[in-house]
Amino acid sequence: MYTKTCSRCYRPSFRSSKQGKWNCPICNHNLATFRARDAGEAYPSSLQKKYPIPQQSESHSNTTFDTYI
Ligand SMILES: [Zn+2]
Repeated sequence: MYTKTCSRCYRPSFRSSKQGKWNCPICNHNLATFRARDAGEAYPSSLQKKYPIPQQSESHSNTTFDTYI
């Protein structure tokens, strides 16, 4: 997955390939000359939300919930 940010409306657009034509889906601005970035590098936080990684769930399984309330 690749992403480019439109220079006109500043909205990100995504493509599975960086080859060929690439027009902004919002304002139809031609983005072909802009450099595509890997979507995982450009938006790592959004990918982590999509695929959450359980953090230390086993090591904390014996502790009470008192510390979290
Ligand atoms: Zn645009």
